[in-house]
This record gives sequence, structure tokens and C-alpha cells, in this order.
Amino acid sequence: MLGKYALAIHGGAGTLLRSEITAEQEANYKAALNEALQVGESILKVGGSALDAVEACIKSLEDSPLFNAGRGSVFTHDETHELEASIMDGATSRAGAVAAVSRVKNPIALSRLILHDDEFVYLSGKGAEQYATDHQMKLVDPVYFYTDFRYNQLMAAKKEGTVLLDHDGEKKFGTVGAVALDLNDNLAAGTSTGGLTNKQYGRIGDSSLIGCGCFAENQSCAVSATGYGEYFIRSVVAHDIAALVKYKGLSLQEASDYVIQKKLVKLGGEGGVITVDRDANIALSFNSEGMYRGWLTSDEEAQVAIFKNVD
Ligand code: ASP
Repeated sequence: MLGKYALAIHGGAGTLLRSEITAEQEANYKAALNEALQVGESILKVGGSALDAVEACIKSLEDSPLFNAGRGSVFTHDETHELEASIMDGATSRAGAVAAVSRVKNPIALSRLILHDDEFVYLSGKGAEQYATDHQMKLVDPVYFYTDFRYNQLMAAKKEGTVLLDHDGEKKFGTVGAVALDLNDNLAAGTSTGGLTNKQYGRIGDSSLIGCGCFAENQSCAVSATGYGEYFIRSVVAHDIAALVKYKGLSLQEASDYVIQKKLVKLGGEGGVITVDRDANIALSFNSEGMYRGWLTSDEEAQVAIFKNVD
């Protein structure tokens, strides 16, 4: 046992442009990231599990209207919400995932419930919601996910006839995620999203797909992704990074950079990842203008950043 913990979170790659973000918006995003980091660290520093820390961090980000997950999720073309999430335990390789849920307040919590189920890994739509109620998880009225900000984005997207990755006309990704190493040397990863503004109903992205938007195994690393989901699925991003670490002996940063800056760029995919390994190394890699992100270790104070150069 190293006696170290480490935690990294993201709130999506492809942020508001530096020239467009107001000081108030920047402060709000950073405050929400800091809050999530504190929630996670309070669990890790007293010996809590990486899995608990990941779930708690993501819940905190899902409850914020700022990010495209949980409360702040974007609208589908049909003016509904279809949320998805996944979580994986590096110690046991157990995983849980949900997709196309419209009444689950915290999809990451439902994913966690499923992770402990011996029968399922992945549930979607009405079946996932039924599973939630069967396990005493209260569903919310879909109106909980309504925000003017997101509705206006949908209207703008429909007018332009485009499918948008989070905010306005730019390519923006607001998905949330967390990766953690706990004091018992266990890793975990999780990811949660509302998907794409104006997406076709039934569309599922990488965020809930184990190996694409989320992956954790103690033998390599924990990874959570954000970006243009279709490219992340085709590149099997999260597992690819873990495989480079495990089979090729690449460092976490080398593996993350190879997949994000080379492989993904070649295909035309935009986005990034947060990763952590059992030596408490953290690597953050993105090929977008920015990525809402935060990180800390037992030896290093919490830091948050939005743009390329640490701000
Ligand atoms: N990866 C997400 C998706 O394609 C979007 C995001 O990261 O914001 O659904």
C-alpha cells in the first residue's frame, strides 16, 4: 500500500472560448469543480473507496445546472432528456451503466446500483427506470431537467439544423467524469452526460459505454472521457489507453496523449480524458480548446483549470 490517494474530475472538453467567458461564469465553473473535488477528497482521505469518491464527485457535478449531466442535461430533438452514465471498479472489474433515462436524478447512482448486480451491467430506458424504482430509488418529474439555457440551445440548434455538442454554435462538451485512486491502491472511474443537444432520441454516446467513455482496472489505470462520442466509440478510447499502459508499458501521459492527440485527431475526433494510475500519477489530455477539470493528490493541493495553459 502506497498510502497515497489521487483524484481527477472533468466537466467536459471544449469549453466556452476564453474570449467569451465572463469572470463570473469562470468563477462559477471553478467553484463547482472545487466543490466536487472537496466532496471526493473528504471520502478518500479517511480511507474511503475510489468507487465511493467517483460516485460522490459525479453526483455533485450532476446536481449542478452548469454541466451537461443530471440537472443541466441538454435536450433531444423531441424536447425530452435522455441521460446516460457508467461507473467501473478497478479492483473487481465490475461495471454498471445506464442509457436513455429521463426520470433518474443521478444516473451515476443508478449505474452504481447496477454495478453490484450479478445479472446486469447495462440497462436502458424504461427497464432502467423500473430497476431504479424496484431498488427504492425515487424517480423525478422530467421537468426537473428543464432549464431555459438548454431549451434556448435546442431552439438555436433546430434553427440551424445541427446536432450540437453542448453549448451554442461552437463545439462544446459538458459531460462530467471522475477517476480516483484510494488509500488501498484501488482505482475507479465514472462518466455521466445528457449527450448532444438536438440528438435523435435513442442515440447513445460513449459516456455509458465501458471501454469507450469509462474504464478502470487496477493493473493499468482509470479513465473518463469527454468529447464527440461517436469518435470515442470508434476509437474505444478508454480501454485503448489502459491497453497501451498495460501491454506496451507506456506511461499514463504517453498513452493518453497517443490516443487523444494522435489516434483521435487522425479520425477527426475532438475531446479529452482524465486518467489516474496506482502510483498516483494523473494525466489529463485534450485536443480541444479547453476542458473543465480539477485534480489533487494526497501530496498536492487541489487545482482547477479550464483552458489549455493552466489558468
Ligand atoms: N461524449 C458525450 C457524447 O457524445 C458528449 C460530451 O462529452 O459532452 O454524448
